[in-house]
Amino acid sequence: MDAAAPIGVVGTGYVGLVSAACFAHLGHRVVCMDIDAAKIARLERGEVPIYEPGLEKLIDDNRARLSFTTSYDELLAACQVLLIAVDTPPSHSGDADLSRVRHAVGEIAARGGRRLLIMKSTVPVGTGEKVMADLEALGATSMTYVSNPEFLREGAAIQDFLEPDRIVIGATCREDADAVEALYRGIDTDVLHTAVPTAEMVKYASNAFLATKISFINEIANVCEHLGADVRTVAHGMGLDHRIGPHFLQAGIGYGGSCFPKDVQALKQLAGNSGYHFQLLNAVIEVNALQKRRVVGKLKQRLGGLRGATVALLGLTFKPHTDDLREAASIVLASRLHHEGALVRACDPMIDAGAHPLFAGVTIVDEPLAALEGADAAVLVTEWPEFIRLDWAAAAAVMRRPLLIDGRNCIDPKVVAAAGMEYEGIGVGEAGPRPTGDRDQVVA
Ligand code: NAD
Repeated sequence: MDAAAPIGVVGTGYVGLVSAACFAHLGHRVVCMDIDAAKIARLERGEVPIYEPGLEKLIDDNRARLSFTTSYDELLAACQVLLIAVDTPPSHSGDADLSRVRHAVGEIAARGGRRLLIMKSTVPVGTGEKVMADLEALGATSMTYVSNPEFLREGAAIQDFLEPDRIVIGATCREDADAVEALYRGIDTDVLHTAVPTAEMVKYASNAFLATKISFINEIANVCEHLGADVRTVAHGMGLDHRIGPHFLQAGIGYGGSCFPKDVQALKQLAGNSGYHFQLLNAVIEVNALQKRRVVGKLKQRLGGLRGATVALLGLTFKPHTDDLREAASIVLASRLHHEGALVRACDPMIDAGAHPLFAGVTIVDEPLAALEGADAAVLVTEWPEFIRLDWAAAAAVMRRPLLIDGRNCIDPKVVAAAGMEYEGIGVGEAGPRPTGDRDQVVA
């Protein structure tokens, strides 16, 4: 392989575009390819089609090393090393839908030549071996395959890419593994070399474990409510144990996003397909589904019913610092409230005012106070800084009933109480001091 040749990135979404910009920052030339012509046109005009903090600047700073195309011919004329970062959404069966991966690999194989395929997309364990068998059957014997799963979190993607906890490289030969490791030269971290299926499993097992931690603390929170304990202090006390650690112990209304829900489901399905019943993951998934709805019960209890009540949702994206709505808790919550007969208003820094296809019957407005005007309750859904810092006295003044359900336990109850509002968090059975500590627990 020509080490000086550009890297090709197939799929310019959250992972592909961030990887491309970061590899360019590390000094590589990168050709970004996507079948979405509108996306590529925007990138060529200097626009960034997704919101990710710092990405626009990183692309701008490295523009000389980045190029964009919709053409596989152009991509393959320039690149031997190809990073595949297409989406792998859930299919109806719960298995990962690999049609986009198959399409990309097929387009590359059809054009022949010596290629190194690096799989960044999250794919089920065994995918690499199947792809390699398919390539062999097609006679594409000069194409090799490496699994190199990505662990970045939206909202902190650039830092996660450039300062990762580890780089995992699953390869069939040392030469390919070394070629991939060389791409990351300049990044100082542990590099784990494994077989292809093991690398694929590291990704699924990591996401499943993090989701398990979230569902675990959410169940503890629910029990705390019954027993009069405060989950925030419980989590703080647990996190001080180095065997447990403080991360991902923030109780709330459940995990969402483009990764955890689909990856946990896919791992459960993968185990099932191989004849193993992954009991624990069933519980993790069920707890999460119920957690998203718990707020509805809290509102009903406080308001004595939801028909005709106006509820303001503060935040819609699945976590702060992203524009991603995939599997956001807000979608389930808004739909439940709408079906209970509530009038739902919402506000999110990243979502335009007006109607949105994911939020039928919800009025989206630009300003939090406009969402809160005349409302019977507010639910803090996404812990955007602008909501955490909201002027709660002003909020109380415009609401019909100044009630806040804090779905992320991110507001100091005393501040809200001093502003004249009722407050209810998740898993807070007693008023107690809020611990200081890490708050990055929502979703990767
Ligand atoms: P995304 O939907 O944001 O982007 C995927 C891109 O691939 C889109 O722009 C789409 O147009 C393009 N595409 C689809 N089919 C194509 C094809 N045949 N040829 C060229 N381009 C094609 O997806 P994402 O969030 O970046 O996720 C990509 C993969 O990375 C998934 O497998 C995901 O599970 C994994 N992953 C995502 C994250 C994350 O936080 N988003 C983190 C780690 C891993």
